[in-house]
Amino acid sequence: MPRSAPVKTARAGKPLATTVAIAKAAAASDAKRPAVVGPREKAESDRRERTLGSGHARAGLTPERMRERMVERLAASGIRHPAVLAAMGSVPRHRFVDEGLASRAYDDTALPIGHAQTISQPYVVGRMTELVIAELPVAPSAARVLEIGTGCGYQAAVLAQVFGEVFSVERIRGLHDRARDNLRALRIPNLRLVHGDGLLGLPDAAPFDAMLIAAAGDSLPDGLLDQLRVGGRVLAPLAICRAGEQTLCLFVRVAHAQWSTTLLDAVRFVPLRPGTA
Ligand code: SAH
Repeated sequence: MPRSAPVKTARAGKPLATTVAIAKAAAASDAKRPAVVGPREKAESDRRERTLGSGHARAGLTPERMRERMVERLAASGIRHPAVLAAMGSVPRHRFVDEGLASRAYDDTALPIGHAQTISQPYVVGRMTELVIAELPVAPSAARVLEIGTGCGYQAAVLAQVFGEVFSVERIRGLHDRARDNLRALRIPNLRLVHGDGLLGLPDAAPFDAMLIAAAGDSLPDGLLDQLRVGGRVLAPLAICRAGEQTLCLFVRVAHAQWSTTLLDAVRFVPLRPGTA
């Protein structure tokens, strides 16, 4: 998959009024960005294992083999970090989607998870995770990471394989509950799920070494970004270019009041919305 050369800028000032202005200016001069379109209880999970799409079953593909193939494709697409590939090779993505979609769980595509939301495309999960690891000021195993937009919980599970402590916030109660059910049998001790408005962050758990925003907004509130420690990294899709277009942005808190902005891929995420539902 083609990758764009990042646009880098660094400047002092309050993060988001400033960073979004910088990002918009950078985006205007960045015409050639490529389009990157972007367990339950034991008995239930066993049932899903057996019913993972008859076509694949006929081809002799177990979920493990399908996952290996997905990881091979991710590596061929440019995901390189061994810890990210290992995490994506270990989390059973088919357990995070409806049974009827399980045979497509290892395709490189977003899939519906109810409530008009989607599970993110595997490539995007790998790419965001890898971008967080790179140049993180602490060892990944010591990092505290905040995810906004738990959805079905898949990316949170991947993050928890890689980082020391992961907090994931979801605004829709039904999805928060669903993620909790999906994750129960995986027993991930370093993952905390919260029902709430992620735009408020989690002041009691801050500061974070990294934030991953799994939904696209126009900007991020200063109150959220203030919860990032100096040296920390934020990955967020923002609608900063033309209407309907989103760009994956990397913001690094270089110093207390200094942020750098890197514009990365064109992406497509569901909207970031305030409040809870
Ligand atoms: N991380 C998920 C992707 C979920 S889609 C995965 O593993 O695939 C994005 C999610 O962000 C949706 O569930 C949506 O409800 C949620 N969301 C949007 N705005 C939010 C907000 N302000 N706070 C918390 N979650 C939010």
